[in-house]
Amino acid sequence: MATKNEKIALNKIAELGCILCSEVLGFEGTPAELHHVRRYGAKRATSPVLALCPEHHRNGNDSIHRLGVKCFESQWGITCEELLERQNERLGKETK
Ligand SMILES: [Zn+2]
Ligand SMILES: [Zn+2]
Repeated sequence: MATKNEKIALNKIAELGCILCSEVLGFEGTPAELHHVRRYGAKRATSPVLALCPEHHRNGNDSIHRLGVKCFESQWGITCEELLERQNERLGKETK
């Protein structure tokens, strides 16, 4: 179960909108779902989450679940870790 603080943090990430749309395509605020980034050996509960719109998450031909992480990263020219960094920068800005 997620704690209240974790839920608030997840809501803030979702509210940023799709990080791929905004960072790569220049569309701000696309409604997003949360994607858990898998790190080798890490538990799901501790894995970082990326905000991705349904199109880029699982529905679209270029989505992370359809392409797989490696192909997704080469398709868009950005890695999940880089997207996480951009997202964290945005979260930092939001809270100032
Ligand atoms: Zn998107
Ligand atoms: Zn996912």
